[in-house]
Amino acid sequence: MDKKRILILGGTAEARELASLLSQGGVYDLILSLAGRTLDPRPQPVAVRTGGFGGAEGLAEFLKSGGFDLLIDATHPFARQISKNAEIAAGAAGVPLIRLERPRWQAAGGDRWTEVGSLREAIEALGKQPRRVFLAIGRQEAFRFSAAPQHFYLVRSIDPVDPPLDAPHVTYLQERGPFRKDDEVALLTRNRIDIVVSKNSGGAASYGKIAAARVLGLPVIMIGRPDSGNVPVAGDTDEMMRMIDHLFSAGKKRGV
Ligand code: NAP
Repeated sequence: MDKKRILILGGTAEARELASLLSQGGVYDLILSLAGRTLDPRPQPVAVRTGGFGGAEGLAEFLKSGGFDLLIDATHPFARQISKNAEIAAGAAGVPLIRLERPRWQAAGGDRWTEVGSLREAIEALGKQPRRVFLAIGRQEAFRFSAAPQHFYLVRSIDPVDPPLDAPHVTYLQERGPFRKDDEVALLTRNRIDIVVSKNSGGAASYGKIAAARVLGLPVIMIGRPDSGNVPVAGDTDEMMRMIDHLFSAGKKRGV
């Protein structure tokens, strides 16, 4: 019997975890796709291809020519373009699509969140008075805070921030998570941070800074995530495994 072919759009810890789960038992033929942004990506448990497809059309062509039976969008909740492309391409190629998306963080007792809908709103919410800001929103968009150069920024990312921030008081920190709450408390305290800016990424690996802000009574500007369109969503890898099982066993019953 031919193995089912699955293309996983990755770039997240969950995508790697899912690839590892799906590779067990050799039931599926798997390819994990990475954008190629991270200079030194972690080793992956399955075959990897790297780089863009050339928009939704390119991805649709890749799905058709590769004979894929399923597309999994396990990209980051804030990677909007590739998720849009995945939806269009899956429709065009007639390939089922499931999205793996960790649930949003919810504010808990003691949290002081200001929820905003965009980076622009986050910058405005910092206000005019200089503040000491912890910016942990990834390396690609940090430069937009050049619009508010009066603040001090502690910017953390895996790879160097590119383009850099055009502001006089910036400290860069290159580190890869997961980050523990106690270490985050120490980092925020050491740098005399008085406000945190974060995307509502969800998941445990980067929650430490949110928990640390609560411990220290610091405000957090929380950038809300875009919605996931009209795509079936699995909240974690276990749910995804069940959905895949269901999809292929339903296909088998129909003789597909
Ligand atoms: P994006 O804006 O949604 O995508 C821009 C373009 O990059 C896409 O149109 C596509 O190029 C290519 N691309 C993105 N993900 C890809 C993948 N997994 N495989 C092949 N091509 C991909 O994406 P982004 O926000 O720059 O994120 C890039 C990658 O970093 C994603 O894999 C994402 O999971 C990961 N990531 C993003 C964030 C974040 O906050 N945005 C955080 C952590 C990790 P073509 O149109 O040419 O196909």
